[in-house]
Amino acid sequence: MPMRMSTLFLRTLREDPADAEVPSHRLLVRAGYIRRVSPGIYTWLPLGLKVLRRVETIVREEMDAIGAQELLFPALLPREPYEATGRWTEYGPNIFRLKDRKDQDYLLGPTHEELFTLAVKDLYSSYKDLPVTLYQIQTKYRDEARPRAGVLRGREFVMKDAYSFDVDDAGLAKSYDAQREAYVRIFDRLGFHYVIVEAMAGAMGGSKSEEFLATAENGEDTYVRCPHCGYAANVEAVRVPVPDAVDASGVPAAHVEDTPDTPTIASLVELLDARFPRDDRPWAAGDTLKNVIVKVTQPDGTSEVLAIGVPGDREVDDKRLSAQLEPATYEIFDDFASLPQLVKGYIGPGALGADKPAGVRYLLDPRVVDGTRWVTGADQPGHHVVDLVKGRDFDADGTIEAAEVRVGDACPSCGHGLEAARGIEMGHIFQLGRKYAESLGLKVLDENGKLVTVTMGSYGVGVSRAVAAVAEGNHDELGLVWPRQLSPADVHVVATGKDDAVFLKAQEICQGLEAAGLEVLYDDRKGVSPGVKFKDSELIGVPTIVVVGRGLADGEVEIKDRRSGERRAVPVDDAVREVL
Ligand code: ATP
Ligand code: MG
Ligand code: MG
Ligand code: MG
Repeated sequence: MPMRMSTLFLRTLREDPADAEVPSHRLLVRAGYIRRVSPGIYTWLPLGLKVLRRVETIVREEMDAIGAQELLFPALLPREPYEATGRWTEYGPNIFRLKDRKDQDYLLGPTHEELFTLAVKDLYSSYKDLPVTLYQIQTKYRDEARPRAGVLRGREFVMKDAYSFDVDDAGLAKSYDAQREAYVRIFDRLGFHYVIVEAMAGAMGGSKSEEFLATAENGEDTYVRCPHCGYAANVEAVRVPVPDAVDASGVPAAHVEDTPDTPTIASLVELLDARFPRDDRPWAAGDTLKNVIVKVTQPDGTSEVLAIGVPGDREVDDKRLSAQLEPATYEIFDDFASLPQLVKGYIGPGALGADKPAGVRYLLDPRVVDGTRWVTGADQPGHHVVDLVKGRDFDADGTIEAAEVRVGDACPSCGHGLEAARGIEMGHIFQLGRKYAESLGLKVLDENGKLVTVTMGSYGVGVSRAVAAVAEGNHDELGLVWPRQLSPADVHVVATGKDDAVFLKAQEICQGLEAAGLEVLYDDRKGVSPGVKFKDSELIGVPTIVVVGRGLADGEVEIKDRRSGERRAVPVDDAVREVL
């Protein structure tokens, strides 16, 4: 049975929703795929649900093909497992917590390492049981600081999360590679233009990690790539050597630039006072740490966009800060549309504490720019280095993650200059190692009857995000343009006019198409003008549109290709064959 527009639970909108910033969000709402319930929380309407299910199917097929086994955990979870791994606290305000009637703590799962680990611990006990990879396609909850762009960054969203369990490192490497290859197939099938970048393991702990980023100008992730050798890394992940010993304060020397042209804190305070009078500052007492983005122009005319850190929970303590100001011009920078991909530096007491050296420079990531301020802190765990701690932020081998990297810096692989680009994180794979197995006591007996801790990997795909990301890469000024494998239908049959013969013929064509195995959306509405029907078909974005109307008198129907706009008249009896 085709989906009939006369009864389909669908109303398209002529106007863009007021809160939509990006095309995918605008079009998915206007074309009747999703409806907002609350910020970052959306309903999937019938057409949207079809697309979501198609993404799920591709992901499921590729997981099954590598032998991963599907199961389903609850989203409502007790506190204890997350307490045991430290994530109840680490997640800070990013998880939804709730209490039951007995005052016990629960959370809505943001990701499920703990539950999978415990399930394997529950049922398996020997090396002979391993390796095993389990996955689910499930609704996740994260109280994102900035839900945005419809389902692109939701507070409720659908994720495929898989977890591998192995006895040794070689096994983990193999499981990881199998997932990586499945991801390549998944994203090829979804029709993404994507890059695979080195990533930081962040709040997950663990070592090797890569992200699959859909390339997109308005993506929130910034990565650097080497045009010469193809090396690519998330800006938060590039590893650079820390040349000198780490000093007593825990600040690696490589992080401090003692350049004389770096303004010092006291001078900046003076400057801030001059630029932002004390009773009219863009920050207020009680705010969290924030940074004012400024453009600094040196006397020789060169300029940089920098962030000045200001401890917002108290008045700037002028007396504690002392040094000299180099002659430079500072302007508040609010032209965020032209914000460089990589903001060049950070100066000030913020991230390292007021007593740490001034002139420490960081790579900032414009996605956390909020109005005129750049906000750091607990709402972005893992994204920035805040209070560097050995073993957490940099390794004993003398390399550091999340260190400063700039466009033009040397590629760590071949030495050429790095370029910056933007992307949307679609998938993320990690070699977690033994962190979760250790904290939850997942051990098995090895060949010699000795208990060994299991090593794990974790592998996520943003399933609902993929719907938005595909829409982001597949639309024009008229509406959505789905790749066939994700489209809510294969063919959109549009019957126009009032003539019963037209509707009968259209109905027949629908049946022919369905008999040939295609899914059909049929616009059988009476009393709706052809213009409105055509507009709707363009907005909805099914790849092939068959118009049955006036031409029928001459024995013809029209076949339109939504993407190219190309249209051709074909004899009505050939309609089905011509579509196939
Ligand atoms: P992001 O950096 O975009 O916040 P993340 O690194 O926090 O994502 P992971 O924990 O790696 O996300 O989760 C696996 C995948 O789930 C991500 O690669 C992404 O595709 C998807 N995802 C994460 N957060 C959201 C969200 N709020 N809405 C929709 N999809 C999400
Ligand atoms: Mg996140
Ligand atoms: Mg991320
Ligand atoms: Mg991630």
